[in-house]
Amino acid sequence: MADVTIVGGGIIGLCSAMALQDRGYTVEIIERGEIGRGASYGNCGLLAPGEVVPVSRPGVVKKIPGWLLDPEGPLFVRPGALARDLPWLLRFLKAGSADTVRHIASSLAPMMKRVNSDYGVLLERIGRSDLLSQVESLMLFKDRSEYERDRFSWDLRSELGFDHTFISGSQVRELEPAIEGPVTCGVIMKDWYHFTDPLALTQALAEEVVRRGGKIVSGEALSFESERGLVRSVKLRSGDRIDTKRIVLAAGAWSGSLTRQLGLRIPLAHLSGYHVHAPHPQVHLERAIYYASGGFVLTPMATGLRIGGTIEIAGADPKPNFRRADVLAERAKTILPTLDITGSTRWMGARPFIPDTMPILGKAPSFGNVILAFGHGQVGMTLGATTGHVVAQIIADERPDVDLGPFRPQRFA
Ligand SMILES: Cc1cc2nc3c(=O)[nH]c(=O)nc-3n(C[C@H](O)[C@H](O)[C@H](O)COP(=O)(O)OP(=O)(O)OC[C@H]3O[C@@H](n4cnc5c(N)ncnc54)[C@H](O)[C@@H]3O)c2cc1C
Repeated sequence: MADVTIVGGGIIGLCSAMALQDRGYTVEIIERGEIGRGASYGNCGLLAPGEVVPVSRPGVVKKIPGWLLDPEGPLFVRPGALARDLPWLLRFLKAGSADTVRHIASSLAPMMKRVNSDYGVLLERIGRSDLLSQVESLMLFKDRSEYERDRFSWDLRSELGFDHTFISGSQVRELEPAIEGPVTCGVIMKDWYHFTDPLALTQALAEEVVRRGGKIVSGEALSFESERGLVRSVKLRSGDRIDTKRIVLAAGAWSGSLTRQLGLRIPLAHLSGYHVHAPHPQVHLERAIYYASGGFVLTPMATGLRIGGTIEIAGADPKPNFRRADVLAERAKTILPTLDITGSTRWMGARPFIPDTMPILGKAPSFGNVILAFGHGQVGMTLGATTGHVVAQIIADERPDVDLGPFRPQRFA
């Protein structure tokens, strides 16, 4: 029997496995599909330490109702999902008040301050420092007023020690000559980098976990069997049973049903996002770019240019509406007119999202041997290595390096 059974082979499960092995624990990962093919596959690859301010925030909250009515807007709720996800959405909007946003940002900041150094160590350990491009990312705007309208967020980030440098349109073009069209200014995001191949990252982590004696079990965790406040085994859909000493639940957006079996009702929504991945884009970018005025990210990856973004509330495991991905590519052409998307692939995936935009991180209240580690929303890639580190500290009964109080699973009780 392994010391720790991890449910979910995405970035969170894999980073947890690595950190646990560092402390001498044996691990097994239960994965129902392919390793790294959930949200950790198709994301925009940003390592974005200053992304501490939630989407729902002063200045943006007012725009959200308008977006909700526009099927091609940055945040859309499919009518069929509204009944189920309305309570979640109301909580999400409520968390956008200035005081709550300050609380969220200052709670996330200590974790975010560690992400670059934690990934530095992790990537070196697996011999894949090449998977992180350390060219600082850019945020671009059609006009300065758009930047100014989000003054609340810029000031809050600065207060918390996440700096940025405002630059003119011509400075933008000096850095990225391929950028054309409606861009009059931008911001260099200090210490924001990008992964050049998220799938290669999770695969390299999985290989290292196995090389160090870890096991990957193919199967879907369906239920837990418990006795006297401890989960003793995990039942798989196949009927097999895996006896366990401790569990880390890191099943991303699909963690809800297993959490309910632990007597917890955590508001976890699937927030779908899309990408178009162009293998031969015929444009060169040095760094990841978030075009704030268009609501999409452009990330130069080892396998092409990824254009990603949008939030769609469509229920659990919906059919993709690839029109949303096509809109991303069309918008990208407004600032990259020569972009070639011939041979591109389209993808939809689910961000595991808690309405207060903070992950669930800590022991399950009634089951001392279960650690919950999910709900990382739009920053799961960023927080992967640091989450793994903290999960290992919880299991080793060490005092965590960051205050986990704000992330406690019972905060919605
Ligand atoms: C369009 C888009 C862009 C994004 N861009 C960024 C970005 O630039 N930067 C950033 O930091 N984050 C980004 N994110 C968010 C990030 O991708 C996620 O937060 C992160 O990948 C979540 O990791 P995870 O390991 O929790 O979940 P996942 O990667 O989804 O992994 C969960 C795994 O659990 C498995 N699983 C589920 N249920 C079971 C079960 N019952 N039994 C066994 N296995 C199970 C799944 O198959 C899956 O492999 C983006 C997300 C999207 C959708």
